[in-house]
Amino acid sequence: MSRPALALAFLLLPLSAAAAEPLALQCERLFEARSGKLLPARTVVVREGRIAEVLEGRVEVPGVHAVDLAGHTCLPGWTDLHVHLGSQSNPQSYSEGFRLDPVDFAYRSVGYAEKTLLAGFTSVRDLGGEIAPHLRDAVNQGLVKGPRIFAAGKSIATTGGHADPTNGYNDHLAHLIGPPGPTEGVINSIDDARQAVRQRYKDGSDVIKITATGGVLSYARSGDAPQFTVDEVKAIVETARDYGYKVAAHAHGTEGMKRAVLGGVTSIEHGTYMSDEVMRLMKQHGTWYVPTLYAGRFVAEKARVDGYFPEVVRPKAARIGAQIQDTAARAYRNGVKIAFGTDMGVGPHGDNAREFIYMVEAGIPAAEALQAATVRAAEVLGVDDQGVIETGKRADIVAVPGDPVADIQRVLEVALVMKDGVLFKQP
Ligand SMILES: [Zn+2]
Repeated sequence: MSRPALALAFLLLPLSAAAAEPLALQCERLFEARSGKLLPARTVVVREGRIAEVLEGRVEVPGVHAVDLAGHTCLPGWTDLHVHLGSQSNPQSYSEGFRLDPVDFAYRSVGYAEKTLLAGFTSVRDLGGEIAPHLRDAVNQGLVKGPRIFAAGKSIATTGGHADPTNGYNDHLAHLIGPPGPTEGVINSIDDARQAVRQRYKDGSDVIKITATGGVLSYARSGDAPQFTVDEVKAIVETARDYGYKVAAHAHGTEGMKRAVLGGVTSIEHGTYMSDEVMRLMKQHGTWYVPTLYAGRFVAEKARVDGYFPEVVRPKAARIGAQIQDTAARAYRNGVKIAFGTDMGVGPHGDNAREFIYMVEAGIPAAEALQAATVRAAEVLGVDDQGVIETGKRADIVAVPGDPVADIQRVLEVALVMKDGVLFKQP
């Protein structure tokens, strides 16, 4: 293809991966995610959406257009394991749900998806929200620029629990709508639990999310009460397994977290009041921890702003938000497996990379924070074709200036984003 034709191909982005030209990314350094080591100059050859070769040095490949990344470090595209692309909190969030239609939120999500991708996140796990499975399909069809989305769809909760969609409704509305059930993701028995998972399968989910304890932002008093029995969690996990689903558990309180781990979930999200006993159980069961430090700091900060949150939410935001970073530091020292997630949608989409900086502030070495969003995130997702820059894997690549292992702030300066071999941003 001639240079003008190549330029045209970029203008028409996003196209299917097959339409992308072969490219040779001439990287100054390459982050080898499995070992967490930086390799000197490498050229990554990309063909038909996949990594065709990784060559030593910054070399020209005959017939392949070169992208000069002098001074830049190439890394596998990042994965944020905890986002909500269907929303973004603001002082009007609690009333907007009554005024706006799903299609209004869907239009907003288009911009959120693009910002997330351009920040270097080529994959996300969307943990709750009915927009995400549809947004995933639109991204896959090339209609919307966004990350690869692994979508939970509606979170599974119990009555009055975090993610009961009718929390905070007045009696009249609640009576008109009636109590939500497994179809809406609210369960109160083992049979309900199975039905709720099967409904998510019917709705096109990729992963299951449960709210094992109360939550900060729900219109309810407790942020930490346990909200499922162990048997309910087990029924969800076993049914999820039938469909090849992993289960992510939102949890702040100790008892609900313990039940989720004993019930066999794949990951604990937030994990605020994680006790030593829970950490021991997580190591025993191989449970992952996704701390979402960004969300913790964001809600603690907004709790100080009058009127940002309803009064029932404010004390939870202040107390729980401030605790998460200490918990992550303790979990890291205790050897709990940590993977990367922000809970964006609480904070502003596109600012996801700041989580790396918070992880480093919590005492996690930069190389391990970068592994948490690449090779480890792929493990949490249960996929083996991404998260590393190796021959045959998906060509999901980001580049930042300088050396992000030596200076983690560099993650905020993403210069190149490639997903499935298609460039969405370049220097
Ligand atoms: Zn969340």
